[in-house]
Amino acid sequence: MSDVLAVAEHRRGELRDVSYELVTVGSQLADATGGDLHVAVVSGDVDRYAEELDVEGVDTIHTVEDGEEFNHDVYAQVVEQLYDAVDPQVLLTPNSVNGLDYGPAVANALDLTYVSDAVDVELEGSTLTATREMYGGKVETTTEVEADAVAVSIRSAEWPATEAAGDAVVESFDATIDESAVKSTVTGFEEVGGGDVDITEADVLVSVGRGIEEEENLDLVRDLADALDATLSSSRPIVDNGWLPKNRQVGQSGKVVTPEFYIAIGISGAVQHVAGMKGAENIVAINTDPNAPIFDIADYGIVDDLFDVVPALIEEFEG
Ligand SMILES: Cc1cc2nc3c(=O)[nH]c(=O)nc-3n(C[C@H](O)[C@H](O)[C@H](O)COP(=O)(O)OP(=O)(O)OC[C@H]3O[C@@H](n4cnc5c(N)ncnc54)[C@H](O)[C@@H]3O)c2cc1C
Repeated sequence: MSDVLAVAEHRRGELRDVSYELVTVGSQLADATGGDLHVAVVSGDVDRYAEELDVEGVDTIHTVEDGEEFNHDVYAQVVEQLYDAVDPQVLLTPNSVNGLDYGPAVANALDLTYVSDAVDVELEGSTLTATREMYGGKVETTTEVEADAVAVSIRSAEWPATEAAGDAVVESFDATIDESAVKSTVTGFEEVGGGDVDITEADVLVSVGRGIEEEENLDLVRDLADALDATLSSSRPIVDNGWLPKNRQVGQSGKVVTPEFYIAIGISGAVQHVAGMKGAENIVAINTDPNAPIFDIADYGIVDDLFDVVPALIEEFEG
């Protein structure tokens, strides 16, 4: 019977969704080991985070008070010490900018096998099988590792978030930070272009692609987004053209989104785009080309000219 340790993530005073997805993965693994799921939350308002993280499947929440924001050197030291204290079979971290920062350092220091960017994990005895995607999602690979000492970073939006209330024990963990090893300082946080809009939080996304032809035609899809009370996002060419800021880009090199409705307008459905939106609950595609790959994953498809369809939709929803 061995335990699982997952490290939650927060940014600018809010727990990130991936924290609850880590709980989903972590409790599946803890079921397989027959052990407990420990969740750690480091720095910031840890008491509030602990309350919010008390969801089904979590046995113990370790709070570590150490500064306000993420700091590589602090996280690396804290997670190493927590690992030693909990002695888990599996260490789980998000495959995020932060997780990829301290995860490999911790794995290296503790001599753990490190598997990054897993989209599925299974544990049988002392063998962990991790699924990863390659070539922009065209190929899936499975990796088997001896799981007695393994760290796995998980891709966000691949597992449902656990939301049901739990009854975890909260314990404060006193980490001993070697200040001489803290070489980096966080001086601030800057969102990449485009203000505060976070397309990963939207319930409805109206997403536009190269089929829109001209920058001024974007107003048409903006009007549809307004009529639906939706958020505007796009494929990469729209961002590359400088018509929308980078934080609106969906896809492999953009953001992974999981809205209730994703309306793809004039988007072909290239694998690099699909990698970012395949988790949407309902996908609606508008495209003149009946063979466009987006129709392979769409729940509803309209094969028609967007310049006819979008005004008709606006009229319908505004009327
Ligand atoms: C390493 C790498 C990373 C990448 N990352 C991303 C990423 O994060 N996100 C991303 O989106 N792409 C990404 N790409 C680019 C990706 O490969 C595609 O080039 C891109 O997604 C295509 O965008 P699109 O569908 O808007 O344009 P196109 O492929 O040009 O498709 C336009 C579509 O609009 C349709 N259309 C045209 N006119 C109309 C009309 N009047 N009415 C209705 N439909 C119409 C066409 O039939 C076509 O299907 C990446 C590529 C690489 C190599």
